[in-house]
Amino acid sequence: MNWAGYNEALIVDKQMTLSIADEKRVADLLETIKKKSADFLGYPVAKDFNFSRLQDFLHYPMNNLGDPFSESTWKVDSRLFEQEVITFMADLFRAPKDNFWGYVTNGGSEGNLYGLYLARELYPRGIVYFSKETHYSVSKNIHLLNMRHIMIQTLKNGEIDYEDLKETIRINRDKPAVIFANIGTTMTEAKDDIKKIRQILDDLVITDFYIHSDAALAGGIAPFLDPRPPFDFTDGADSISVSGHKSFGSPIPCGVVIAKKNNVSRIARSISYIGSLDTTITGSRNGLTPLFLWYTIKKLGKEGLKDRINKALILADYTLTQLKGRGIAAWKNPGALTIVFPKAPEAVQEKWQLATADGQSHIIVMPHVNREQIDLFITDLVQSDL
Ligand SMILES: *Cc1c(COP(=O)(O)O)cnc(C)c1O
Repeated sequence: MNWAGYNEALIVDKQMTLSIADEKRVADLLETIKKKSADFLGYPVAKDFNFSRLQDFLHYPMNNLGDPFSESTWKVDSRLFEQEVITFMADLFRAPKDNFWGYVTNGGSEGNLYGLYLARELYPRGIVYFSKETHYSVSKNIHLLNMRHIMIQTLKNGEIDYEDLKETIRINRDKPAVIFANIGTTMTEAKDDIKKIRQILDDLVITDFYIHSDAALAGGIAPFLDPRPPFDFTDGADSISVSGHKSFGSPIPCGVVIAKKNNVSRIARSISYIGSLDTTITGSRNGLTPLFLWYTIKKLGKEGLKDRINKALILADYTLTQLKGRGIAAWKNPGALTIVFPKAPEAVQEKWQLATADGQSHIIVMPHVNREQIDLFITDLVQSDL
C-alpha cells in the first residue's frame, strides 16, 4: 500500500467537501475583500506584493518554533531564511555587527513587548517614559510587565516634548530610565529624536538606561531618508521593532525585532534553569511570514526598497501640495508618508477608511498608492466640504 498516496487522497477529499452555500460564502468574502482593499488610504499597510511563487508552502505546517538561531529537532521551518531577514534588518538599523539578535514576530506590538521585556529584565526598578502619542498597545504591555511608567507631553507635530522628558527624568534621577521612543507615531508619523534623548540622559548623568525604538511603520522608511533621522542602534537604540505588513507588505501580519545579543543572552540565561533556551515571546512561530519578508528583501534589495520609498515620498509631497492648493490646512512631518488634515466628513472617512482622532484625519501614501487614487480622494474631500 502506498501510504503517502493514501494520505494525499484523504486531504484532497476533505478539501472538496465544502457545501455550495459555503463555497458561495468564501467567494463573497473574496469579493468584499477586493473591494474594501481597493480604496483604503487611512492605514499604513503596503499592498504592492505578490507571493504566489510561495503558495506551495501552504501545504505544509511551517513553524519556526523557538529561537531562530538555534538548532531544533523540528525541521519543517524557514529558520535559515529568517536568519537572513534578521541580518538584513540589523544592517538596515546599523546594529553592532557581532552583537545583534532578533526574530520575526507577529507584528510591531510583539516586538515592542519584547523590547520592554528586555528592559525590565535589565532594570527591574526602571521607569518607562513614553509620549502620549504612543500606540495604544503599549500601555497594555507595560501593564502586563508590571513596569512603572510616566507619560510625557508631545510637541504639536506629535514628537515627544524633550523639555517635559528632561524635567520628568530629573525628578526620578535615582531610577533607571527606560525610554520608549516613537519612530513614526500612529497619527502624524512623528519621529522622536534618539540623539536628543541620549543628550538628555548624558546631561542628567543617568548611567542606567535603555532605549527602545518603536519603528512599526517608519522602520522601513527612515533608513532610506536623507537626512537620516536618528532612530537606530548607532544613534543609541538598544532594540528596534518594525512591522512587516506595514512598509514592507505581507498578507499575514508580521514584524521583526532586533536587539543586542548580550542583553538577550541575559534573558536566555535567566530562564535556562528551567532547562530551556526560550528566547522568543511565543513558542510556535509563523514559518511563512519570514519567507514573505525574505522574498521582498531578495526581490527588491536595499536599492529597490529605497526607490520604492522615494516614489511614495514624491507622491506624498504631491498630495500635500494639492490639498494646500485647495485651501485645506494639510501638513506632514519631514520624511513622512502620512498627511494630516482637519477631520474629514463622515462619508469620506467611511469610503477611504480614514483614521480620525482629536479633530484630525490622515491619509498614508503607501508605496502601492497611485496618483489617480489621490486625485479621486481629493475630489471627494473637496466636494464634501462645499
Ligand atoms: C502599527 C503600530 C504599532 C503596532 O504594530 P502591529 O504591527 O500592528 O502590531 C505600534 N506602534 C506604532 C507606532 C504603530 O504604527
